[in-house]
Amino acid sequence: MALNQEWVLRWTELATRAAQTHREELTALDRAIGDADHGENLDRGFTAVSEALSQTPQEDPAQTFRTIAMTLMSKVGGAAGPLLGTAYLRLSSAAKPAMEAGDVAAMIEAASAGIQARGRATEGEKTMVDAWAPASRAAQEAAQSGADCVGVLQAAASAAANGAQNTLDMVATKGRASYLGERSAGHLDPGAVSSSYLLDAALKAAD
Ligand code: ADP
Ligand code: MG
Ligand code: MG
Repeated sequence: MALNQEWVLRWTELATRAAQTHREELTALDRAIGDADHGENLDRGFTAVSEALSQTPQEDPAQTFRTIAMTLMSKVGGAAGPLLGTAYLRLSSAAKPAMEAGDVAAMIEAASAGIQARGRATEGEKTMVDAWAPASRAAQEAAQSGADCVGVLQAAASAAANGAQNTLDMVATKGRASYLGERSAGHLDPGAVSSSYLLDAALKAAD
């Protein structure tokens, strides 16, 4: 079954809830290798997103993703705001009123490419790219082998969770964590972990 605007709104609701639930955990991860604000940044951003979406009638996925992008860019701040804002802008451009498995994979690929372009980061630098890039690959493989929308999202969410775990041993070379050099190893990247929660919310919203 194709995904539609109802999925987008449900995804956003679950993402907002995840940002609340994992707020302390994400901030603790950021305390180890950053400035201890990632959970607060995301929670503040998605709370503002919920308000923004409830204030204007939402017509279609493209409009909703654009509203989310603008709100995250203005409310999250720091590194994550512009990066996630760019991801949602790319989702907006790639979204359709009815999204099939191939469209969903293309959207995840677009978001991942947007983050990489904005942050000038590649895989292995201990950033959110280490969740998004494997998610994008897994989503495309799933779509090509005939998975439906839920199958594509399952592949993406599980690859993102693995990717986030794989940041544990990485040495950061982008973002604040890079100031720690070798001492950044042994900690999970907060942005990779939160990105895996976002993709998990996308899956749960479709299930
Ligand atoms: P700040 O570092 O400004 O306090 P946050 O704590 O909200 O912002 O977000 C930090 C996260 O942003 C990191 O864990 C990492 O995943 C991500 N990040 C930082 N710099 C980059 C970059 N250049 N490219 C991709 N992701 C990045
Ligand atoms: Mg921070
Ligand atoms: Mg900060």
